[in-house]
Amino acid sequence: MRPIGIFGGTFDPIHYGHLRTALELKQRLDLATVYFVPCANPPHRTAPMTDGRLRLRMVEAAIRDEEGFVADDRELERSGLSYTMDTLASFRAEFASRSLCLLLGMDAFLGLPAWHRWRELPTLAHIVVAHRPGWEAPTDGPLGELLRERRASGAEQLTASLAGLVHVQPVTQLEISSTDLRDSLRAGRDPKFLLPDRVRRIIVETECYAEPL
Ligand code: ATP
Repeated sequence: MRPIGIFGGTFDPIHYGHLRTALELKQRLDLATVYFVPCANPPHRTAPMTDGRLRLRMVEAAIRDEEGFVADDRELERSGLSYTMDTLASFRAEFASRSLCLLLGMDAFLGLPAWHRWRELPTLAHIVVAHRPGWEAPTDGPLGELLRERRASGAEQLTASLAGLVHVQPVTQLEISSTDLRDSLRAGRDPKFLLPDRVRRIIVETECYAEPL
């Protein structure tokens, strides 16, 4: 059976860097579904600027009509900090005998050793790392070690087992970030062509990134 992709993030807001990366990973890894999981309370960064339900609404608007892309609110439904371990455990309970792939950009992967129970993540899912502009795959430290021990020889290997491998997948580099988008929205610049128009309309309608008075 084809693997399932789990793509977490604050998505504050979702943009084409997220969407194109998810699509290319879906194509290259032959994923049956990609679940976009907006984070409620990120443990390792400042709180998102916009409410979780609004970020979910933007994700839903962005992926509507895209076959195999699903918006998932399980982290918004949980209280407390949003640990990826808990999210993966919940997906594992739902899909006991499917290969699960946790999808991460290289910048997120480099922060992995600070995550709650990070060494246990491969017991629940494969880790798939998408190249991101300006970031290099680690060769030393705990992540260098993880890559030496668990690196998949190719994307096909991710179907043959349920969890446990690390795969680095080159994707088209799009230097778009939510931080830059929020900054330019605050400065009154139009985000057109950096995110879907449906998301842009929600941002305009709600003024969710306007400069606080
Ligand atoms: P922020 O600027 O607020 O930190 P972000 O643009 O990095 O946000 P997140 O929602 O934090 O977006 O990222 C979710 C996931 O998407 C992370 O794994 C991140 O590495 C990845 N990602 C974000 N932007 C890109 C991009 N332009 N190309 C590839 N991956 C990306």
